[in-house]
Amino acid sequence: MKKNFITSIIALLFLSTAVAQENRLAHKQPNTAEIYHNIEKLGFLGTALFIAAHPDDENTRLISWLANDKMARTAYLSLTRGDGGQNLIGPQLREQLGMIRTQELLEARNIDGGQQFFTRANDFGYSKHPDETLEIWDEQAVMEDMVRIIREFKPDVVINRFNHRTPGTTHGHHTTSAMLSMKVFDLAANKNSYPNQLENLDTWQAQRVFFNTSWWFYGSQEAFDAADKTNLLEIEAGTYYPYKGLSNSEIAALSRSQHKSQGFGSTGSRGSQTEYLEFLKGSFPSDKSDLFSGINTTWTRVKGGSRVQTLLNSIIANYNFKKPTESIPALLELRSKIEKLKEDHWKNIKLAELDQVILDITGVYLEASINTATATAGENLKVKVEMTNRSNQNYEVTLLPNKLMEVDKSQVSLNAAKSFTLDATLKIPAVYEASSPYYLKEKSTLGMYQFKDRTLTGKPETGAEFVVRTILKINNTELYREIPIIHKRTDPVRGEVNEPFHIVPEVAVSIENPVYVFSGNSTQPIQVTVKANKALSTGTLELCHPDGWNITPRDFNLTELKKGEERTFIFNVQPPKNASRGVVSGLVKIGAKTYSQEVIKIDYDHIPDQQLVRNNESQVVKPGLVNSARTVAYINGAGDDVAQAIEAIGSKVFKFEPSEVPNDLSKYDAVVVGIRAFNVAKEDMAALQPRLDTYVKNGGTLMMQYNTNRRISPDALGPLPITLSRKRVTDENATVTILKPQHKIMSAPNAITSKDFEDWVQERGLYFPTKWDAAFTPILGMHDKQEEMTTGSLIVAEYGDGHIIYTGLSLFRELPAGVSGAYKLLANMISLGVENQPIENKDGQRKL
Ligand SMILES: [Zn+2]
Repeated sequence: MKKNFITSIIALLFLSTAVAQENRLAHKQPNTAEIYHNIEKLGFLGTALFIAAHPDDENTRLISWLANDKMARTAYLSLTRGDGGQNLIGPQLREQLGMIRTQELLEARNIDGGQQFFTRANDFGYSKHPDETLEIWDEQAVMEDMVRIIREFKPDVVINRFNHRTPGTTHGHHTTSAMLSMKVFDLAANKNSYPNQLENLDTWQAQRVFFNTSWWFYGSQEAFDAADKTNLLEIEAGTYYPYKGLSNSEIAALSRSQHKSQGFGSTGSRGSQTEYLEFLKGSFPSDKSDLFSGINTTWTRVKGGSRVQTLLNSIIANYNFKKPTESIPALLELRSKIEKLKEDHWKNIKLAELDQVILDITGVYLEASINTATATAGENLKVKVEMTNRSNQNYEVTLLPNKLMEVDKSQVSLNAAKSFTLDATLKIPAVYEASSPYYLKEKSTLGMYQFKDRTLTGKPETGAEFVVRTILKINNTELYREIPIIHKRTDPVRGEVNEPFHIVPEVAVSIENPVYVFSGNSTQPIQVTVKANKALSTGTLELCHPDGWNITPRDFNLTELKKGEERTFIFNVQPPKNASRGVVSGLVKIGAKTYSQEVIKIDYDHIPDQQLVRNNESQVVKPGLVNSARTVAYINGAGDDVAQAIEAIGSKVFKFEPSEVPNDLSKYDAVVVGIRAFNVAKEDMAALQPRLDTYVKNGGTLMMQYNTNRRISPDALGPLPITLSRKRVTDENATVTILKPQHKIMSAPNAITSKDFEDWVQERGLYFPTKWDAAFTPILGMHDKQEEMTTGSLIVAEYGDGHIIYTGLSLFRELPAGVSGAYKLLANMISLGVENQPIENKDGQRKL
């Protein structure tokens, strides 16, 4: 039922995004007003860097204002890619969610005009304090990345989203981003910090740092109104841009709405909008209405640049909106003036911008497309190169020779108002790595991504796998262009669809489920899929496994797989007698070559299709436990996989939506309530109260999982009052004290020891109760570092002839991760009311 629920949400989203807009690979040529604005931008030589911790932390209103009103080079540096968040549009979590959110940020910047950077820091989940964050992040490595980004991007002003002086008041990642920003402001200018970067880069001193504050950081509008504003700059950011037909806040909303995986759709507003910047350090602006004041942001900041400025001013003054090509001779002259400058930084940036303006004015359209989404190493593919000139100017085009690319003609004339198509052959080398995000090729640690090539630092992605390199010559001026090779197709609903072109492994191997839990000694089938991305005649498939596990058959023969064909195979897997946990992996052998990579596709309309390639691997777990509950009713909450986990340990599970729970629950050994059921189905859960009350009084066991404390009254959570709080224990290794080891829930049918709290993932639990009815007994104590012990993670009461359990422990995370101790705890919870234990199951054995 959970699946249906999620599928229907996805279907809705697909509908809405399909009609809303395509991703940034869709071709979009600027109109004459936009081109004029891009020419104006050539005259602003100032740079701003906005720093925060996660995708969606950024203030898109300020970024858009900087990029479009101020016309500054603007970037958002998000320390992480947001792996630790939730996903409202599909099942991807962790690094796959980080891939989605990376792309969402790129879509957002494509709309608001900023650039995007990241560090190697990994969003490992919630942390309460920067101390905790920096225990998990490698502080030196994060700062090294930040310093490199500053030395390369050379910001004049740095803007922090968060306050570096108030640790503990927001997510630890947030405060850390601001604290590190304050440090790297100085380090980037220091030739003794990260000196090996200085082989290719110079030190850089940004001029000032601000904190992008608002009333929210002061607690209330009243407190903010009363605060001393001597150090505050006020910016009017409600600008209307006639060349776009949009207000700054409307652009900001469109940009923010790209965070679709976070459900951050936003409605634009119009009219006045004030942004506040608190000056933190550097040089105080000479004019409080301009954050760049005192910094030279004209061409005169570059030696010899004043002549450029004069010519540019006249180009802007004489721009003909009806015939923009009239500006071409002057723009080419401007180009040669810029090219002669000695200083490289601004020269290279402005030349790239200017070249784009020249191509845009002449309506030049360049495309290199391929009619397949994927190919393997060693393949030769046809590439269609389209070049169209929609102006009265002539171009001479040279396709640069390249050992990967054969073209039927390398020199062509692209005369006024002409178009041509060239055929090229892409020869993919025989040894070529499958396409996958560069930062996911090596194994990450909990806190950091790993990759060796430091020149990739900051990059969201490495871009198109292959490009066609060209030189377009206009009036003796040569413009260099790389045309990315994309997969182009026509979709009956979406129309033209452009997607990245990916290299896939010759053979892909995947296992159906990430975790297999074995409740007894009986075998379980594990399904392995082999996909031939290249025709293969003969080979074998085996399942690598830990010692003591028995796999039949030993291997399968693979014969005559056509290109693109997929076949599934079933291995019967038998666990060892005792508790055991390990990893299985499908392995294909063809001659001397072995293949074990799986290909994960992530397809959403609002971002380009993504591909992750990694080793296939699934966990096999035999917790070694006794479960006495024969039948369990599961009331669905916001969505979790706990019902499957209960089935995996041998109970028969009946799942119900809160509105469809049967009147008589007496036949179930336990009733388990899914996560956040009382939040998402408040009325239906309230209507269930009398039924749950009767069920427990008559001997049933009611087990409730975590809910958030938002608008939940103490009387709402089952028959006895429970008061929830925001208390959580985020350290998954936090010591757990068993307060009541003799209690049945800790001793029967399975003895729970501290060992059962090992190998937990992400956190211990969340939204723990802090007050409860006297009938409840708190069972466990735990706390994060430097905090007091909380005893509300698991509370149990006898009520009538039955039992009530409330737990904020993150079973919904631990069970799908195959954590043995979580399975034993779960078994004890649902077995609590079963009198005659252990009961034999149909195999004649209950002891598992
Ligand atoms: Zn955040």
